[in-house]
Amino acid sequence: MFQLTEDQVDLAEAVAGFCRETLAPTVEADDEHQVFRPELFRAMGEQGFLGVPTPEEHGGLGLGYFEYCVVLEEIAKVSASYAVTVAVNGLPQVILGQFGTEEQKAEWLPKLAAGEALGAFALSEPESGSDAGAMKTTAERRGDTYVLNGTKFWITHGGVADIYICMARTGGPGPKGVSAFILPGDATGLSFGKKENKMGLRASPTVELVLDDVVIPAANRIGEEGFGFNVAMAALDSGRITIAASGVGLSQAALDYAGVYATERKQFKKPIIDFQGVSFMLADMACKIESSRLLVHKAAWLRDQGLPYANIAAMAKCVATDTAMSVTTDAVQVLGGYGYTKEHPVERYMRDAKVMQIVEGTNQIQRLVIGRHLKRGWMR
Ligand SMILES: Cc1cc2nc3c(=O)[nH]c(=O)nc-3n(C[C@H](O)[C@H](O)[C@H](O)COP(=O)(O)OP(=O)(O)OC[C@H]3O[C@@H](n4cnc5c(N)ncnc54)[C@H](O)[C@@H]3O)c2cc1C
Repeated sequence: MFQLTEDQVDLAEAVAGFCRETLAPTVEADDEHQVFRPELFRAMGEQGFLGVPTPEEHGGLGLGYFEYCVVLEEIAKVSASYAVTVAVNGLPQVILGQFGTEEQKAEWLPKLAAGEALGAFALSEPESGSDAGAMKTTAERRGDTYVLNGTKFWITHGGVADIYICMARTGGPGPKGVSAFILPGDATGLSFGKKENKMGLRASPTVELVLDDVVIPAANRIGEEGFGFNVAMAALDSGRITIAASGVGLSQAALDYAGVYATERKQFKKPIIDFQGVSFMLADMACKIESSRLLVHKAAWLRDQGLPYANIAAMAKCVATDTAMSVTTDAVQVLGGYGYTKEHPVERYMRDAKVMQIVEGTNQIQRLVIGRHLKRGWMR
């Protein structure tokens, strides 16, 4: 766990090489103009990066979450937006792999893993974010179909996804009234509202879904009626590890950039890295990143062993993304005024880091999960 195997190092190098050649050239312009490129998503699929932990029989690489984190860290070093694309496209794979029928798996997993279909996850609504169990979108059973009505908000890949795993209410109030559905991107009655103009992750589209009498086959339900909240929470437990891994990659990129800059930039006739005030800052950044990476690897390892991992996943998400925020902010500081301009990538890293403290459950919600877990252990 403390040292990558030769195979894992080879995988990391292959991903890094691909990202340098294929993702890096468009990162700055796409951040500026908010462009998402489906062809880059498909190219990652051709390389096998989109279905790392998906079983080989369903078109994935059949590796572990550990390897998935290694891949995400490398992608995030170059583009946090595409790391999030890979992570979000992974959510339907995790959900269908764990809870889908054989037909649902056969129809969607190979396409999602190969980059032939883009996946999305639709839980949040305008009035229910952290309190997702209070959602209002409804799914009414009519014969062999469900009719969906409502609005989903903040949906990554909204408008470009081929499949949304959509949570909607089939029963009474609260989490127990929620069911999960496969919602095809071309379903009649599904339309797309506002595309958010965001601070960061600007190459990753975030769009409102409007469901107006959307009819889907009853066979598109995932699990039993009323089981949808469990489906969503299980997906988020896994998803938190992937956001944490992306946070580590972003942090590492910021540290490496700031470190090289500090050896080259001279003030008072010496490189600024020779001032203790700067080198201590870099040392603290390195310590935080290394601790975050260890937590991410532990969470992934626990999951791969089939051991309970939700609590450590919440810790990893919280620590790694708080680290990403602090490390990227410090990277801007190391570059001084230059760090505050678009001449250098550290300002983008800082903008991209912020959202990682918010998505897949804010870091306050992670602390809530960790606190509850601790309480259970201490109760007599
Ligand atoms: C770029 C982006 C992409 C996203 N992609 C998706 C997606 O693909 N699919 C999807 O379903 N959602 C997505 N989301 C939504 C995201 O999951 C929510 O923004 C997040 O869950 C927080 O919900 P909210 O924004 O409504 O904030 P709120 O829930 O209103 O929270 C506001 C503040 O109150 C705090 N807070 C709330 N409740 C508590 C509590 N009990 N204790 C302590 N503090 C609390 C929060 O931590 C936060 O600081 C995305 C969001 C963004 C910004």
